[in-house]
Amino acid sequence: MPNLYFLARESCPGCRSPRLRTIYSCSYTQPPVRDFLKGYYSRPEGVEFEYLEGQDYVLDECLECGFVFQKYIPNEFLSRRLYEEWIESGNKTDIHARPKKLENFRQYAQEILTLILYHGKEPHQLDFFDFGMGWGAWCLMAKAFGCRAHGAELSEIQMEYARRQGITVVTWDELPQYRFDFINTEQVFEHLAQPLETLTGLARALKPHGLVKIAIPDGTDIRRRLKVNNWNAPRGSRDSLNSVHPLEHLNCYSRRAVTRMAAEAGLEPVTLPLAPQYAAMTGWQPVAGVVRNLVKPIYRRAFPRNTYYLFRPRAA
Ligand SMILES: [Zn+2]
Repeated sequence: MPNLYFLARESCPGCRSPRLRTIYSCSYTQPPVRDFLKGYYSRPEGVEFEYLEGQDYVLDECLECGFVFQKYIPNEFLSRRLYEEWIESGNKTDIHARPKKLENFRQYAQEILTLILYHGKEPHQLDFFDFGMGWGAWCLMAKAFGCRAHGAELSEIQMEYARRQGITVVTWDELPQYRFDFINTEQVFEHLAQPLETLTGLARALKPHGLVKIAIPDGTDIRRRLKVNNWNAPRGSRDSLNSVHPLEHLNCYSRRAVTRMAAEAGLEPVTLPLAPQYAAMTGWQPVAGVVRNLVKPIYRRAFPRNTYYLFRPRAA
C-alpha cells in the first residue's frame, strides 16, 4: 500500500500487462535506500523523510516485456517537493546554474546536421521538437541551422526564456496541432509516470517519415546490479544503480522493453544509415580521432554513457 504521497502502478507502464513480480524492496527510511537519499540530496535541509514514512521503494518486473519500474511513484505534491526543493532549484530558474560545455554544443551540432542529411531536405523544410528542452540549447542549435525549432518544458521561466529566443513553445495540449520531422527526448523517459501514454502522444505528432529519439540510462543488466546491491557505486561505474534512482528514475529500460513500448505506440526501430552520420562528422584530427570516428558512428560517440533508440511510425 502506498502512503499519502505515493501512487501505485498496478500494471506495466510499457506494455500494460498486469503480470508483474517484485524483484527488489526496501523501506525508504532504512538503509541502504535511506542512506543513498541522504548522500545524494545534500542540500542543507536534507531529504524530507516525513513524506517517505511507512513507504517502501519497490521495483517490479513485467513478466511480459521485461520492463523494470518503480511500483510506487511520488504523487504530484511530492514530485514538486522533489524537483523544486530537494534538487538544487537553481537549475530551473537560472540559466547560468549549470552552463553547457563545448562538447555539448559539438554533439548537438553533429546530431542536428546528421538528421538534416538523413531527411534529405533543406533545413527550412524541417520541424524539430525537443521534448524536455531545459534552457533550449538543443533547439537554438537546430534554429541556427535554419530548422523550425519547437520545444516543451514544464518550468514557466524556461518556457518564457525559450519564447524570447524565437523557439516555438508547445504545450502537451497543443501537441495534436503539430507534425514533426524529429522529436528529441534526452534523459526524459526514465522520469515519466506514464511513459507509454506520453510516447503514444508524441508518435501521433510525427510526420510519416519522422523520427523520435529516446535517450535513457542503460538498464540492461539491472538484475545483476541489484544483486551486487552497492548503492555507493559512482554513477557511470559498472555497479551503479543510477538507472533505478529512487523517486527519480521511475522506469528502467532494456532494449526489449523500450522496443515493446514503442510497438504499443505504433512505432518501429530505425537504424540511421552511415552515410549521413559520416558526412556530419567533425573532429577529424588528429589521426586517432579519425580512427575513432570510423569505428564509432555518431550516436554512439555523442552519448557514450547512455543508451539511445530511434523509432519511426510503423508502416500501415
Ligand atoms: Zn510490460
